[in-house]
Amino acid sequence: DLLVVGSANADLVIGVERRPAPGETVLGSDLAVHPGGKGANQAVAAARLGARTALLARVGDDAHGRLLLDSQRAAGVDTGGVRVGGAPTGVALITVDPSGDNSIVVSPGANARLTPEDIRDAAGLFARARVVSAQLEIPLETVTEAVRARAAGSRFVLNPSPPRPLPAEVLAACDPLVLNEHEARFVLGDGGGDGGDGKDPEGRARALLALGARSVVVTLGAEGALVAEGGTAVRVPSPRVGAVDTTGAGDAFTAALAWRLGLGEDLATAAAFAVRVGAAAVTKEGAQASFPTAGEVAAL
Ligand code: ADP
Repeated sequence: DLLVVGSANADLVIGVERRPAPGETVLGSDLAVHPGGKGANQAVAAARLGARTALLARVGDDAHGRLLLDSQRAAGVDTGGVRVGGAPTGVALITVDPSGDNSIVVSPGANARLTPEDIRDAAGLFARARVVSAQLEIPLETVTEAVRARAAGSRFVLNPSPPRPLPAEVLAACDPLVLNEHEARFVLGDGGGDGGDGKDPEGRARALLALGARSVVVTLGAEGALVAEGGTAVRVPSPRVGAVDTTGAGDAFTAALAWRLGLGEDLATAAAFAVRVGAAAVTKEGAQASFPTAGEVAAL
């Protein structure tokens, strides 16, 4: 089984002509409310592909929490590990302007209250998980506890988003660390690959392996991904598609990769499937609404 440990947010989206200045009020479009958060997205993406998936997360005892639980269950995710209460459900307040640029305020809410104790209370979920997949929209000490809670032989996949430097214990468990170039730069601090903003995914992957990650996958948008482990780095091209909305592509990619690794595929083979899932996800609007079924991936 795949166990996703991470965040669950309600995304509240309003279209605006322009953003308000301090003290000003502007009128916007009708409100759209979507289930989101990287953990919730990954769990839905994996379950929609057919993976046996459980989510370990925390939501509030409120309408947004119920929206998130309903969307997980509708996708077939085991929600037995979703804790309820302690703070309001995490929210992302998103304004979108006519050029498509987002401005976002996140209230982590219940996500910030997912504790190491919640991890220890979920021993049954960890015992069944062949792969544990996490991100960084929950406290780092909770992610660290998830690394420790894994059953022998179970694999740990981390998307370090939002990015920050990682403790050695977490890095040493990542197999792989899955990240885009922007995130790679932050995880590496100033020592990143080429040391600047230039594109050098091979250099960054090498630097991340040298930092202690067991393997690294750098996602490259329309160009696919770079897979690095041991002394080798391979490019995995993405199918060419008409991109409509890239929201959630990284979550879909990571979920697909984690699932396939749990089925025993090697990293390059799993990544070759994951780029197809990421590509399918950019052909539709939205995050969870854009995630493909296995049939849709095959038809791509
Ligand atoms: P993130 O959203 O985390 O920055 P990427 O943009 O690298 O992640 O996208 C993750 C994956 O989604 C890519 O590896 C690729 O397979 C797919 N993808 C993203 N954008 C496109 C695109 N424009 N065309 C085809 N595939 C894409």
